[in-house]
Amino acid sequence: VRARVMEVEESPEVTYQDIGGIEDQLEEVRETVEMPLKNPDMFEEVGIEPPSGVLLHGPPGTGKTMLAKAVANQTDATFIKMAGSELVHKFIGEGAKLVRDLFELARQHEPSVLFIDEIDAIAAKRTDSKTSGDAEVQRTMMQLLSEMDGFEERGEIRIIAATNRFDMLDRAILRPGRFDRLIEVPKPDIEGREQIFKIHTRKMNLDEELDFAQLADMTGEASGADVKAVCTEAGMFAIRDDRTEVRMQDFLDAWDKIQAEDEEEDISRT
Ligand code: ATP
Repeated sequence: VRARVMEVEESPEVTYQDIGGIEDQLEEVRETVEMPLKNPDMFEEVGIEPPSGVLLHGPPGTGKTMLAKAVANQTDATFIKMAGSELVHKFIGEGAKLVRDLFELARQHEPSVLFIDEIDAIAAKRTDSKTSGDAEVQRTMMQLLSEMDGFEERGEIRIIAATNRFDMLDRAILRPGRFDRLIEVPKPDIEGREQIFKIHTRKMNLDEELDFAQLADMTGEASGADVKAVCTEAGMFAIRDDRTEVRMQDFLDAWDKIQAEDEEEDISRT
């Protein structure tokens, strides 16, 4: 079971150059995660402790996982990922045990970046109903906090959590010594989208006429993941047309298609 739910990558392939439009966020991640891993003595000499945990929050598909992977890559750290939703499982005590195993794994693979996605699944505000399920979730979160509190050898293991539901979080996890550095990762603005289009078309065989500024302009509200989907879909349009070169029209068609799909989803959801 454990091997399935915990994802371990010795050194992920994502680099800082693969991330577009969130320079400030990247800078903060470097300062709080990369610096302590690369230069722990610096913090000791200055006499301060690096932030214990970093919390990335923002809409889906904005690059939170990428940031965590890229910093692991840059520091030659092992990337260990676990989703909060997978930590809260059916059996009493299992969640807390998984958390212990997770930190054990991180210690074995030092230096490591421990990435806990969907942290809201174990750290949501307490509800009034005291069902056993809630109690189990509570225990899992207490175990996580106690693992973090028990951290002596700072630096060698860095913890990054992520959520799309910042509003739902129990404020207890944001206290000093816990996830005490918050980084908001928003959807890209128009310049960010242009950069992300350039990143995801790097390996594509593009027609010279491609207008990146127009692509960025027309895709308002798109996340980084949406931009990537547009690029892939544009390539599919070229393939359907039996061409190897991707044209502006393919991107326009791709965007139409993706928007239509989103609308369908919205309708089926209501
Ligand atoms: P979720 O909250 O849904 O887990 P996330 O914020 O962790 O989302 P990622 O998994 O990092 O998002 O992004 C999904 C994919 O979208 C990435 O693999 C990448 O291809 C693309 N992407 C997202 N944001 C960016 C970005 N800022 N620059 C380049 N590509 C991006």
